[in-house]
Amino acid sequence: MSLDRGRHYLAIPGPSVVPDRVLSAMHRPAPNIYSGEILELVQGLIPDLKAVARTRHNAAIYISNGHGAWEAALSNTLSRGDRVLVLATGLFGLGWAEIARRLGAEVEIIEFDKHSDIDPVRVEQALAGDSAHRIRAVMVVHVDTSTSVRNDIRMVRRLMDAAGHPALLMVDCIASLACDRFEMDAWGVDVMVAASQKGLMTPPGVGFVFFNDKADAARENADCVTSYWDWRPRANPQDFYQYFGGTAPTHHLFALREALTMLLHEEGLNAVWDRHALLARAIWAAFDCWSQGGAAELNIPDPDKRSHAVTAVYIGAPEGTALRDWLSARAGVTLGIGLGMAPAGDPAWHGYFRIGHMGHVNAHMIMGVLGTIEAGMDALGIAYGPGGLSAAARVIARA
Ligand SMILES: *Cc1c(COP(=O)(O)O)cnc(C)c1O
Repeated sequence: MSLDRGRHYLAIPGPSVVPDRVLSAMHRPAPNIYSGEILELVQGLIPDLKAVARTRHNAAIYISNGHGAWEAALSNTLSRGDRVLVLATGLFGLGWAEIARRLGAEVEIIEFDKHSDIDPVRVEQALAGDSAHRIRAVMVVHVDTSTSVRNDIRMVRRLMDAAGHPALLMVDCIASLACDRFEMDAWGVDVMVAASQKGLMTPPGVGFVFFNDKADAARENADCVTSYWDWRPRANPQDFYQYFGGTAPTHHLFALREALTMLLHEEGLNAVWDRHALLARAIWAAFDCWSQGGAAELNIPDPDKRSHAVTAVYIGAPEGTALRDWLSARAGVTLGIGLGMAPAGDPAWHGYFRIGHMGHVNAHMIMGVLGTIEAGMDALGIAYGPGGLSAAARVIARA
């Protein structure tokens, strides 16, 4: 019997659940883009975006997904032949590296274990080995959505400072922004990229690049910069259309306005971070019990290195795929596929899944995901240790 009627929960790590209020904000006729409300709305968005990024520096908005923001960050700072150092803790670090390579950069990648964060010793060595300071940028993903690791950005900054290395520190916060604590200025980040469809609770289609004056100085000589991706007119427009290099993404802007109001002015960013941390702990508590007597285990063993926005799980093949299929067909919940843990086409690929718990999520949604995962494991005869749901409930009860 299927119990999938009712509201479906798309529990994948992006696009995340869009609040009804955000959807409703979009349900209106197109506004004039030459005068009136939308001009003021955008002026109000910029300080709020900077507040979410915790920066007093510059914000550029792109009509793009995260890949576009990746390319924007690099094309404004690099010239062909420039060297960049990529600290890759999963598929997304490698994806950003590939964009740098296609732009003509000389890319050095340090790939870390898929179950842990950046190893400072290897970063230290790479920086020390570059005494000529040929590396122009160090690129790091804050939360790599494939492994669900959270990297320590302050640590990377400290290593660069200790080495006296002048490279730009560039951070991908596409999965983590407004979920895991991030402080662009306080942590010494020069460039940060984000996108609308994860913690920002807005449909996919808008990307963001935040950059400080040091990064903007690199833009001066960057020969990869092109007219559309140039961040200068977007961050400092003379005319309204320059914010977007053309027509404004009108309805996305209405949506983003509503989402930022909810995050910043109603809940408050600290509370948003706390909510994600607490709900993540509830998920981990369930898996701690389930894994005592079964295969289900969290991909990142150290809780201090885990994201609060996404959780990657190994449960064995083909159980991972079977469980995802069961949840979406029978229980109205879609879990995320495993990404980057095993090659597609390899039977091992079916051993992984991810839970997206970013953005508009609350206690009953998380208990619902966990409860239906336990029901699915029961239905499919997957062994698991007892007490998972009560352990999660206890975390929530004590919040
Ligand atoms: C989702 C994601 C991306 C890619 O974003 P798209 O919008 O799919 O281009 C990049 N980096 C991280 C960390 C992500 O989570």
